[in-house]
Amino acid sequence: MPAAALDCAGARHVRLREPVAISPQEKAEFRALAPLRVLAVDAPPMARYDPASKSYSGIGVDVWCFITRELGLRHDLLPGQNLSLADKLQQVQDGRADVFMPLSHQADRARLGLFTLPYYESYYAVIARKGRPLPVHGLADLAPYRVGLVKGVALEPQVQAVVAAPRLTRFDQAGSEGMFQALRAGAIDLAVYSRDIFEEKRYAHEFFDLEVIHTLRDDPRSYRFYFSPTPAHQRVAAAFDRYLAAIDSSASVAAHVIGERQFIERYVAQRSQRAMWQTTSVAGALLALVLGLGFLYYRRMAHRLAASHQQVQQQQQALQAANQALEQQSLSDTLTGLPNRRAFDLALHREHARQQRTGQPLSLLLLDVDHFKGVNDAYGHSIGDDYLRAVARVLRKVVTRSTDLAARHGGEEFTCLLPDTSATQAQALAERIREATQRLTLPNARAWHPMLTLSIGVATLEAGPASAQQLLEQADGQLYVAKRTGRNRVCATVLRGAVTEPPMPQPAPPPHARA
Ligand code: GH3
Ligand code: MG
Ligand code: MG
Repeated sequence: MPAAALDCAGARHVRLREPVAISPQEKAEFRALAPLRVLAVDAPPMARYDPASKSYSGIGVDVWCFITRELGLRHDLLPGQNLSLADKLQQVQDGRADVFMPLSHQADRARLGLFTLPYYESYYAVIARKGRPLPVHGLADLAPYRVGLVKGVALEPQVQAVVAAPRLTRFDQAGSEGMFQALRAGAIDLAVYSRDIFEEKRYAHEFFDLEVIHTLRDDPRSYRFYFSPTPAHQRVAAAFDRYLAAIDSSASVAAHVIGERQFIERYVAQRSQRAMWQTTSVAGALLALVLGLGFLYYRRMAHRLAASHQQVQQQQQALQAANQALEQQSLSDTLTGLPNRRAFDLALHREHARQQRTGQPLSLLLLDVDHFKGVNDAYGHSIGDDYLRAVARVLRKVVTRSTDLAARHGGEEFTCLLPDTSATQAQALAERIREATQRLTLPNARAWHPMLTLSIGVATLEAGPASAQQLLEQADGQLYVAKRTGRNRVCATVLRGAVTEPPMPQPAPPPHARA
């Protein structure tokens, strides 16, 4: 069963220039013949095989269909896709097939089979790699080159006559692409091949780097039908020739040339679509690359930002620590390490406000070293400093409640701020300080009492709207009383309301006290 068919739709393009006479006997004979077994080759524009429809179409097919229809001949296409040109010819010559198309005339072919008249003329071309225009103007010019040729083509004897065997490479018909690859690779310099078929293969196999450098117009190939040599076929071929002599196939040629053009246009359209897809995918890849790089850049910047943020944070922490240290320094006395006057003032205002809210008693001690000038004078300033540090140690030791504050007020004066401390408690604490200082037994030869002593004024705010300043002034007043009444003593007062209480009864002056 034939696997492929001839597409006879194109037979309508074929006309007769003049009527052809066929006798009724001939017609009867042809009708009685078994269907002609046809072998075709893929050789556009004479016959193109379309694998999709498994059919052949072309000028040769149009003419074949027209004439066989006129003659009442039936035909079947033989499967022969895998056969070489030589095999197919052999089958016709053996009689295993009846007709072959298209075929160009050659003397030895003519000896083994029957050629009809030609129906299409085609040319061989000399093909080279693009950009290598060799001086070839005819067959004779091929002599110095390495030439490729398909085995069994009509022009083979002429080429062999010109090109010496070592320079001539003959390729299998089925492998004509191999010849073009060899040309492309530089294994041969030139290829001789059907111009029409090359044009078609150029598109089908993208041989755009190859070009026709010369068309061998002196050696046209006339394509014909080729019958196996039987008496019946002799009569058929003769009838064919009568038709071929009268036939006008120009419309068929035009149709298939247009078909070629359409084929090429379709090919170009597909190419441009592919190119568009390639462009799109390249653009997509580029976009992805840009995005990827952008992401990497972003990540690197984010890392840098995080690093610099961390750095800024560290710097901020360092700054904060430095500020805290500064703040600490600004609130402490460098000589004794006690809180300084500023720290005391802040605490006084804070605790005074609290006292005003809670009504809890707030006591304040103002301490002054007795005859300190004498210490400096007698032992020097640095010993004086040591004495001040010793007093500070006493204060740290005695004033231990976490809410209490002992500070250096300036010079040889100290203060103690005692929240939630009654007058009695404050006075007792002042006494302990005074005693502890005296117990240091630091000599003060210039003093009347030859030991380092303190005078302490105490003021306690128990109630009323007295200000912090007033509390301080009251303590200062008591200190003054203590100095005036003999030093090395504690004098105290209590503020209740705005009215200042009279000084509390003074303890008896120590034995050597002197104003
Ligand atoms: P009074 O008993 O009346 O308080 O007599 P005083 O000598 O203690 O009082 P005065 O105000 O006359 O002298 C205080 C002295 O304290 C004067 C000053 O040189 C000294 N002084 C102040 N600050 C410091 C200091 O930081 N170190 C030393 N070594 N001496 C200081
Ligand atoms: Mg003083
Ligand atoms: Mg003093």
